[in-house]
Amino acid sequence: MSRLGDLDRAHVLHPHAVVGAPEPPVVFVRGEGALLWDENGNEYVDGTCGLWVCPVGHGRRELADAARRQMEELEYYASFWEFSNPPSIELAARLAELSPPGLERVFFTNGGSESTETAIKLARLAWHARGELERTIVLTRKLAYHGVSYGSLGATGLPPLREGFGPLPGDFVHLAAPFPFRGTTTDGLVAELEQAIEEVGAGRIAAFIGEPVIGVGGMIPPHDDYWPRVAEVLERNGILLILDEVVTAYGRTGTWFAAEHWNLRPDLVATAKALTSGYFPLGVVLVGDRVVEALDGQAFRHGFTYNGHPTGCAVALENLRIIESEGLLDRARELGGHLLDRLRELEELDAVGEARGFGLMAGLELQVEDATALAARVRERGVIVRATGQKLVMSPPLVIEREQLDRIVDVLAEELAAAAVAT
Ligand code: PMP
Repeated sequence: MSRLGDLDRAHVLHPHAVVGAPEPPVVFVRGEGALLWDENGNEYVDGTCGLWVCPVGHGRRELADAARRQMEELEYYASFWEFSNPPSIELAARLAELSPPGLERVFFTNGGSESTETAIKLARLAWHARGELERTIVLTRKLAYHGVSYGSLGATGLPPLREGFGPLPGDFVHLAAPFPFRGTTTDGLVAELEQAIEEVGAGRIAAFIGEPVIGVGGMIPPHDDYWPRVAEVLERNGILLILDEVVTAYGRTGTWFAAEHWNLRPDLVATAKALTSGYFPLGVVLVGDRVVEALDGQAFRHGFTYNGHPTGCAVALENLRIIESEGLLDRARELGGHLLDRLRELEELDAVGEARGFGLMAGLELQVEDATALAARVRERGVIVRATGQKLVMSPPLVIEREQLDRIVDVLAEELAAAAVAT
């Protein structure tokens, strides 16, 4: 193994790796567009953007220049209390412009878990401020990924991520997630939601949190009428809606926010990832008017050191400019359609149960013995996709070329055809 590989195994604890028995690392040294190169000069097509992160692709000089310019001017300063800085102000105003109506305020974070946790705290505090002290319960869903810090992990619904860390924060009720391939129906899901509200009591429920399209849990688009009907039930019961758009915001689904697909009016929207295309760790919670009105006159005693980081915000502004000027929302729709058409061809294989997609997010439901081993073989052939349970998920940069998408599908097709099918 290489010197870096040896040092990595000796000193770095990787998320989700087995302690004491890490896999040999793949050390990436360079990226450009949708391509990556490792330290041995091997080239890869990036089918996942790391973790659904980089709409504008790797190696963008404009973003490096934006960071450098801001660092030379004012690298960082606290933005607690009355302190502020130009890029965070401009970014907040830009996000208020881009987001669905009624979301005029922004609270800055460093990433997705902090965004969902902040949104949950805001929802609870809003009810507290209105004197409804009982409204603390958060409805969430199985298969959900909302993060792994304690508060956000309470909302996450993937059992392996929760095991061994207990006790987890209480007051989360996990409902079924929409999963058409597994036979859910909107009627059934809405009935379960109504029943949970009746059992718990609407007066004890602060909010419902959900990813518009389940991401980590397997890239599962909901039934078309799921969100409008859920939103109607929540509205009728005075329950706040928190959308976790950490994966879907800023273009991946072909709109700035996935909420637009169903004309949803969320009270809180958690975002991160594509906000800076991953060039700087930054997230925001968009805060809706109902929450702001409830909190009027109340201090929000919450905030992270790097809140409103000027360099991160300058990078985000430049990133949003590129997404708009290069027409990446349209591109997500067009290329997403192409990718899904090609993936549907794979449904003929015994190893594939279903191909699904939404914008430039795509997933394959597999019937193979080991999806992780399959993803590793695909990577050896220069294509990066991600295994999650018995599924493969993909979220390439929005700047990916059509031929590069085809390369992903061609390699997948060959490896899936050769894979041992689960019995
Ligand atoms: N919400 C969703 C929908 C996510 O996919 C993720 C991360 N994959 C998170 C929250 C947590 O984000 P982070 O890892 O930046 O804390």
